[in-house]
Amino acid sequence: MPSYDPIESPDETTIFPYHDLTPPTTRDVYEARAVVRRYLPRTPLVRSESLSAELDADVYLKREDTLPTRSFKIRGFYNLVADLDPEFREKGLITSSMGNHGQGMATAAREFDVPAVIVVPETLENPTKINGMKRLGATVVAHGRDVDEAREHAERRAAEEGYRYVHGGNEPHLIAGRASAGLEVMEDRPEVDVLINPVGGGSSAAAYALTVGKLLGADVIGVQAAGADAVHRAWSGGEIELQESADTFAEGIKTRTPFALPLEIMREHLAEMLLVEDDQIRAAIRRVLADDAVLAEGAAATGVAAALELGDELAGKTVVLPISGSNLSTTKLREILDER
Ligand SMILES: *Cc1c(COP(=O)(O)O)cnc(C)c1O
Repeated sequence: MPSYDPIESPDETTIFPYHDLTPPTTRDVYEARAVVRRYLPRTPLVRSESLSAELDADVYLKREDTLPTRSFKIRGFYNLVADLDPEFREKGLITSSMGNHGQGMATAAREFDVPAVIVVPETLENPTKINGMKRLGATVVAHGRDVDEAREHAERRAAEEGYRYVHGGNEPHLIAGRASAGLEVMEDRPEVDVLINPVGGGSSAAAYALTVGKLLGADVIGVQAAGADAVHRAWSGGEIELQESADTFAEGIKTRTPFALPLEIMREHLAEMLLVEDDQIRAAIRRVLADDAVLAEGAAATGVAAALELGDELAGKTVVLPISGSNLSTTKLREILDER
């Protein structure tokens, strides 16, 4: 059985010798795209008339919610699992997740017939996501009070039991695979000026930064919830620091840890980082549901909330807002709609 000891980590997470922390090159991104294309459809980039009128801009929604498992996370896993070291095929993969990362991993693991273990926090209240992971054949383990405690548990089990530990951010294969979305945007709307994307661990914002930012020269802006701003702090000149707490209903971006690799890419290629309040996120969910018939989960609505906050600054620009996922439980949705 393979077994690896952790090596020195550039952040407060555990990493193993197979975690190469070199940012993906443009070649890596195009190669990953060729893999992703075999398994996933291209997602639509749809103009929002309502947001375009409101902001006096050309606003497009990148509909990542239309992918299998209803989030962008799956893009990375086909690239990672297709290239998995054969010594891990029997033992399988382990990761921690608030649901979408786990559903993405479970789907690709099933495709390649590799076992998948996903550690979620005991507090995760999203049956849509939990049932999704189980239905895909993954073993779901509940541990810890939040995703960072779940992560520490997954890291321990990887060291003790020999799983391939899939990190939430320090995985160039995941970032390169997720960058296929950015290549699609570049082809569909090469005139894009601004792209605003949610940041949890930062893999997706880093992926857009490497494509729409670095290759096309557009401003890629990251956005976090005001109560869960660990990456915002680290990006704005601070040290990489594990925060004491993270507070937001948007569980997809509720994390206390900045990850070194996406942070390095974002420091180089991200134009700006913003914060939005949970109230603004809920208002954005109601808005895109009513006006665009799009269901955005909390994390996915942060870009819309940030665009509304920027307001006049976006006038005359071509703006892309990725709808990163739509796994909102009906209970939560009902609560949000009732608030109006
Ligand atoms: C994970 C997730 C995010 C944040 O992505 P990171 O790559 O972790 O920054 C945003 N939206 C949704 C729907 C997610 O599941």
